[in-house]
Amino acid sequence: VTEPNPQAQYVLGVDIGGTKLSTVLATRAGDIVHKVRRPTDANLGPASGVARLIEMLHETIRAHGEDLDHGQIGGIGVACGSPMDAERGVILGPPNLPSWNPVPIVEILEREFGLATRLENDANAGALAEWLFGAGRGRRHVVYLTMGTGIGGGLVLDGRLYRGANGNAGEIGHMRVVDRGGPLCGCGKHGCLEAFCSGPSIARRTRKALAGEPDSHAAPHMWAQIREALCGDLEQVTAEHLFDGARAGDPLALRLVDETAHYMGIALANVIQAFNPEVIVLGTIATAQGDFFLDRVRRVVRDETWPLMSEIVEIVPSPLGSRVGDYAAISVLLQETYKEASC
Ligand SMILES: [Zn+2]
Repeated sequence: VTEPNPQAQYVLGVDIGGTKLSTVLATRAGDIVHKVRRPTDANLGPASGVARLIEMLHETIRAHGEDLDHGQIGGIGVACGSPMDAERGVILGPPNLPSWNPVPIVEILEREFGLATRLENDANAGALAEWLFGAGRGRRHVVYLTMGTGIGGGLVLDGRLYRGANGNAGEIGHMRVVDRGGPLCGCGKHGCLEAFCSGPSIARRTRKALAGEPDSHAAPHMWAQIREALCGDLEQVTAEHLFDGARAGDPLALRLVDETAHYMGIALANVIQAFNPEVIVLGTIATAQGDFFLDRVRRVVRDETWPLMSEIVEIVPSPLGSRVGDYAAISVLLQETYKEASC
């Protein structure tokens, strides 16, 4: 079986992460019917992980009862971190699963279950999820950006996922946002958006700023937290502490939040100038902080893009939030059957 069955009532989704694996059975309309979660146990290697995944999929199907046969399942969507060869369906050792290299997951699952299987990187899959089930529903031009450990991105343009020449389009986190220099990014470049605005980058910038302002009036709330909750340990400061400080009115925290919004706004302005999207959906930190952060981003975007484009684009937090992984996996498969319906 190589083509998904668009008439089938159900689909399966697989989310492969560095710490956990999850499998879901969902209806075509996106109702998650059953979900199974297990640790990835990355140290046990890919053979053990894949075996567990197969077991989990069987369990997910069985959970629905004896009456569910494979004919009622349209296929399997798999979301995993890059690098990968999505077209050939091969995982190529993402940073959180370096030993999974190579793992021809599509071939393995198609052989085991006799169901059409598709693979996509998790940022692209997240963009598909927002397009089909989240803030991008009913739109044709959707940009999606995570704002967690890293900054992943995906583009749905003209009602389909835009992959680029060799599957690397949408890496908005690695756009340069300062004219030269800037902090070193995990990708090896300097001055990437991710090096300023990922969770760890925000925490690092906050620690650096605090170290330069010990006990001053610049950040009374944050210093109080560091003394009490963190027992004086500056190393434990996170992005969340920064936003708490800013909400409490710390001048230093507010300056750093404004700076974070500035870099994010510059990157989004460039994305808007290039792609003229209808909606930009931001996950993780942006979802947690909502308008307190996004209003600042929106102001930068308004100043940095043509009104023609900034007036029509909505910049919104992800309504799927932590459920995005489940929807992402099934959307990898469902994108094909929805393509016609949405155009
Ligand atoms: Zn980078």
